[in-house]
Amino acid sequence: MAEELVFIPGRWDITYNYAAGKVSSKFFAELRDNKRLMGIKCSRCGRVMMPPRGFCERCFAPAGEWVEVGPEGTIQAFTITVEKFEGNPDPPFAVAYVQLDGADTAMLNYVRGLDFSDLNRAAESLRVGTRVRVVYKEQRAGEVTDFEYELV
Ligand SMILES: [Zn+2]
Repeated sequence: MAEELVFIPGRWDITYNYAAGKVSSKFFAELRDNKRLMGIKCSRCGRVMMPPRGFCERCFAPAGEWVEVGPEGTIQAFTITVEKFEGNPDPPFAVAYVQLDGADTAMLNYVRGLDFSDLNRAAESLRVGTRVRVVYKEQRAGEVTDFEYELV
């Protein structure tokens, strides 16, 4: 006889702050104060990681030199969201992984200024390889949403 599995309903709603760490703190301060996107170069293999991190997950060497990347880049992947998700803008909206010029990895963010009246046409405008540029918000808070991408 199978044992009964009892399910207990629960909900977590936790507001918290955490220290971003040395590397991410510099990244967000540069974004907020200087409207610059800074990647970081692996001290061993030399690839430029964006967003920056403290070590290279490919060769496990510590990160080294800071490198400004962008302001343009190439879409590597994208999606258009048509359902409401808590904490996101009202749908439809698009996000894309963009490899900024000078970086070896891609960073996710919203793509603004798209016409969603025809979703297939919107998707075609975001196809892999499409060039985009970074657009900074006037009021920046040191958050990833301080910038967005738009089609070049
Ligand atoms: Zn490396």
